[in-house]
Amino acid sequence: MNKFLDLALAGVQQLVPYVPGKPVDELQREMGIAEVVKLASNENPLGAGERVAAAIAAAVPELTRYPDGSGYALKAALAEKLGVGPQQITLGNGSSEILELVARTFVGPGHEVVFSQHAFALYPILTQAVGARASVAPAKDYGHDLDAMRTRINSQTRLVFIANPNNPTGTMLAEQELESFIAALPTHVLCILDEAYFEFVPAERRIDTLDWPKRYPNLIIARTFSKAYGLAGLRIGYGISSTDVADLLNRVRQPFNSNMLALAAAEAALGDSDYLARTVSLNQEGMQQLTGAFNDLGLEWIPSAGNFVSVDVGRPALPVYEALLRKGVIVRPVANYDMPRHLRVSIGTRTENRLFIEALTEVLPGV
Ligand SMILES: *Cc1c(COP(=O)(O)O)cnc(C)c1O
Repeated sequence: MNKFLDLALAGVQQLVPYVPGKPVDELQREMGIAEVVKLASNENPLGAGERVAAAIAAAVPELTRYPDGSGYALKAALAEKLGVGPQQITLGNGSSEILELVARTFVGPGHEVVFSQHAFALYPILTQAVGARASVAPAKDYGHDLDAMRTRINSQTRLVFIANPNNPTGTMLAEQELESFIAALPTHVLCILDEAYFEFVPAERRIDTLDWPKRYPNLIIARTFSKAYGLAGLRIGYGISSTDVADLLNRVRQPFNSNMLALAAAEAALGDSDYLARTVSLNQEGMQQLTGAFNDLGLEWIPSAGNFVSVDVGRPALPVYEALLRKGVIVRPVANYDMPRHLRVSIGTRTENRLFIEALTEVLPGV
């Protein structure tokens, strides 16, 4: 029993911590396996790009200084590339921090937050941490059911989370239904459109939402450098919103929430279109490789627009996950997302994907 439980805020008392993918060195320690394949956290399998490495090396002599708390250079580069105003941008310690800033700025006890079943695990955590109530809409074919979400909006609702594509299902909404939903939101409701996987979406299905915050000032788009840009370990992401919302987020955030190396690396990554192109094409090939193997194994999978795919292993997934661990392969069980028979597999390199498929093929008959 935690001695300070009674002192913690009501929402915090009930919180269950986010469970991250198992780290590689932890599995190496536990199982004594030298070669570990980690396909568990939707990380970029290419490794850091050379331009990023050079930008970090160049910033190292400055480490005794505080970072630029306004993030001037990165915001200018983002504004230029995305065609938005720099005052519309909020930088964060990962886009997770953008989501948290919105929750802390606008949501408190007595408020409700609407999101979908099978949506990203951070949404219920942030909702509860600020003492609000989660209102979870049942999913439709694993994707967001915007009609079901709309009916849950009432006078207490303060925030709606939409992940597009969603993690861990990889499902995507169509442009028209998404825009109509946002356009119809009451003015007392903010909406976070979480686009952590935007860069992986095939061109013909991509929705250009960047000018929406001008039309819908209650909309915040969240994007990240963690996935396609390969900077998960540095923690840097951003929000794009109306300048009014950005002004309020800026009042709540810590003055130096984005660190110096992350700022420098993100600016370099943004300019490295070759790295991004290689990332996206490796992902397309890997997606074919994995889903082809699932078909061969007779397993159903959810078509995904991200850098991961959730596969129905046809039995409780936890023992399959554990058997894969014993073979040195880390994937992600998603029972905590209400998907107890699925495993979420991040797309890796060709070799990593092959090692996973071999391990899965060996393990399945025994569990
Ligand atoms: C990975 C992810 C994020 C954010 O990751 P950060 O590393 O904090 O930028 C946000 N939303 C979804 C749906 C994600 O999968």
